Amino acid sequence: MSSFANFLEYIMTPTPGVIFVGILVVLLVPVLLHVVLATNVTSLTHLPTILLVGPSGAGKTALVTRMERGPEAQPTETHTTTNLHSVEIETPAPASSSASSSSGSGSAEHIKFLLTDTPGHGKLRPYVFNRLGATAENEKGRVRAVVFLCDAAALSDPDALRHAAAYLYDVLLLLQRRASARIRAGTPPAKCGTPVLVAANKLDLFTALPGTAVKSSLESEITRIRASRSKGLLDSGVGADDVGSEAQDDWLGEYGSQKFTFEQMGEFSIQVDVIGGNVSGEGPGIEKWWQWMAYRI
Ligand code: GDP
Repeated sequence: MSSFANFLEYIMTPTPGVIFVGILVVLLVPVLLHVVLATNVTSLTHLPTILLVGPSGAGKTALVTRMERGPEAQPTETHTTTNLHSVEIETPAPASSSASSSSGSGSAEHIKFLLTDTPGHGKLRPYVFNRLGATAENEKGRVRAVVFLCDAAALSDPDALRHAAAYLYDVLLLLQRRASARIRAGTPPAKCGTPVLVAANKLDLFTALPGTAVKSSLESEITRIRASRSKGLLDSGVGADDVGSEAQDDWLGEYGSQKFTFEQMGEFSIQVDVIGGNVSGEGPGIEKWWQWMAYRI
């Protein structure tokens, strides 16, 4: 007890030694706090990101919850705010990607990435496109891949198909413009494009279209959208032969082609895959989507 009293008396006495230690503590504690906090934030923001987009009701929130917390988790509420909601996902690395994983964020057996959910409502779409575009400058936080989730059971309804195809058209056109700009800037083609997974959800429902039908329906609808948007340009008085690079930038896929196909996006190093699955119920599940994402990290 007396030694504690002596110690107290010593540190309360303003000797040069005590003053020196006091100054060190005052200066170093904030610096140490900053280093610790900044390291944590940096490791999060430097994780590669996969952006999850798609119309409302497609099952985005359900998919994020399932990937984060497993099949038994209760889905949280759908996001209707402007905030993009990111969760950290850890997954076994596929054999061929673990060696080439450039994130440096996972071990040889596991990789980590951020899955960023976005609001599906049309009015909030600018926030989604901002996120897609803003990361173009930042290689580390760049969106590595885009998952476009749609409700395969709803696509037999013409309105739902039009709605989903228009959203996908806008996403692909943005990625195509971004890839074209990179190609023009001399970036190696393999690094220009952002891969896209069209995930056809709710295959547990008997009304759901199979993956192949989802692909052909979306391609046909995008062909129609492309034709009507280019008609607007031609109606403005510019001849088909006179349209310059600006018009080509506004044309999705192979310039001048009659029919749009997802394969045409390969011209811009953008690979588009369509894979069916389901977040809940009986069916193929989410395994193939999960593998697709792991390969893109
Ligand atoms: P979001 O608006 O895209 O976030 O969609 P939600 O995740 O809120 O899902 C909309 C509705 O679809 C919810 O009632 C989900 O339970 C349901 N849902 C999601 N995935 C599936 C699925 O694979 N099969 C079925 N039958 N329903 C699903």
